[in-house]
Order: sequence, then structure tokens, then C-alpha cells
Amino acid sequence: MKTSNDYYNIIQVKEGVYHIGSAEGVFMDLFVGSKQALLWDTGYGFGNLRHTVETLTDKPLIVVNSHGHLDHACGNFQFKDCPVYMHLKDKSSYEYFNSKDARRDNIERVKNTEEGLPSDFDEEYYIHAPIKDTIEINEGDQFDLGGITLTVKEVPGHTAGSIGLIYEEEQWFYAGDAMNPFVWLFLPDAQPLSVYLETLEKAKTFACKKLCISHHAEALDYAILDSFIRCAKELDYASGIPFENMLFPQYIARICPLKGADQSLIGQPECPAVVISEDRL
Ligand SMILES: [Zn+2]
Repeated sequence: MKTSNDYYNIIQVKEGVYHIGSAEGVFMDLFVGSKQALLWDTGYGFGNLRHTVETLTDKPLIVVNSHGHLDHACGNFQFKDCPVYMHLKDKSSYEYFNSKDARRDNIERVKNTEEGLPSDFDEEYYIHAPIKDTIEINEGDQFDLGGITLTVKEVPGHTAGSIGLIYEEEQWFYAGDAMNPFVWLFLPDAQPLSVYLETLEKAKTFACKKLCISHHAEALDYAILDSFIRCAKELDYASGIPFENMLFPQYIARICPLKGADQSLIGQPECPAVVISEDRL
């Protein structure tokens, strides 16, 4: 069983850029410039992410949340002395997912998985850690880390306040959950399908080379946006597959895969899908 300090898996993407994986299937990203470092998302915060980051850099650290969901921002409490940025429109989701009850639920769910919690996990500390305050962030805001420049883009759909970062020097786009091969548009903070589609069309204009997302180990070719767009445009809810999930069983949604794609690969880049509720059509 892993301890808090070796809970995360570090993938070095290039010098100063890391994709940090967790047992829960969510990835965080660390950018280390010559002046400062930036952490993109904090995961559930079960392991000692702060320690992991500090094994990679001692530069002053900024934290930016892609959105307010539990698997992206519940680890914010570990960064109480760092500035943490989030779009204002995700603030209420963030507060909801960081309530004591929601954190208790996080623990209960993970306890029953194969990986489980770190052997030295402190349940009471996790549940009662104060909610870290966040600073507003908006379209066009930019972080100059020294050799690494990250520009904020608003990409609503999955949530109202979802943002992405363009890594300017490489032309890679970090999208969080805003667009991916199994995008969720059914939680209470999800926006209508038309908003998601507008976001995809907007993202295409960034003309990046790679799409880096939060639930995938490897970066995707940016051209995959074309199939996401087609999937959203041709979406057929009536023939969608009922989506069963243990995280939010109270919401009814259907998996609507890309027409004509290999249906045995639903949710993979070869067969992207939109998971949507009827009221978001
Ligand atoms: Zn999310």
C-alpha cells in the first residue's frame, strides 16, 4: 500500500513539464519556469501532492484550477500559502464539493476501491481542512513563469466556469475536462450542448498541436477536436446508451458516441462520446 508521499505517479513530459497521475484516474500538471512554477489542478487531495510538487521544484508556486469539481480542486487545502486561481462561475460548485459531507463521501468511495487510500491517510484532517479561498481568473489572463507562458481561455460547457491554458511556447492546450473523449454534460453545473459546441469551435481557432486533458495519460493530437465537433453536432440522444455511474447515480444521462465509430472503443479517442442529460440537449 502506498503512503501519502509516494501516492502520485510522475510523468515527465519535457524539461520543466510534468503530468502527475493518481490512483483515481485524474491527472494534474506542473509547469516549472525559471521564475516560478504553476500547478494545474490539485485532484482529490488524498495523497500528499504538496510533497510531490516539492520534490520537483522549489520555485514559488501558483495553483490554477481548471474547474471546481471534486477530482480537480479538493486538494486545494494543501496549498494554503499559495495563490489559487479559479473562474468565479465555478465557485459555488467548488464550495459544494469541498463541504465536509462531500469530502466524507470522497473517502467512502475510495475506501472500497482496489487502490484505497494512502496507508497514513488522516481522515479527520482531510474532512475538516478549511476550504482554500480562490482568486478570480478570466479570459486572457497570462502567467509568465520564465520560459513558459500560459494563457487562460474560458471554455464553458462541462461547467460554466471551466477554463483551459494555452502553453504558448509549445502550442499545447490544457483543457481540464472541458473537452475529452467522454465529456460529461449532465451534472447540475453542466451547460447546454450548444455551449459545449461553441467552446469546441472556439478551441479550434487556438490552432494548437496537442490537447492535454485531465483523465488521459497521453496528450492527444489537436485534430481530434474535429471528431468531438462531429460527435456533438450529430448527437442522437434517442439511441444513446443509459449511463450508469456510482459517483452520481441520481442524475439520468445517456452516452452518445460518435456515429460510425467503433462502438467497442466508446470513450477512447477512436470513439469519442458525449454523456448528456435530456435537459441539456
Ligand atoms: Zn469535471
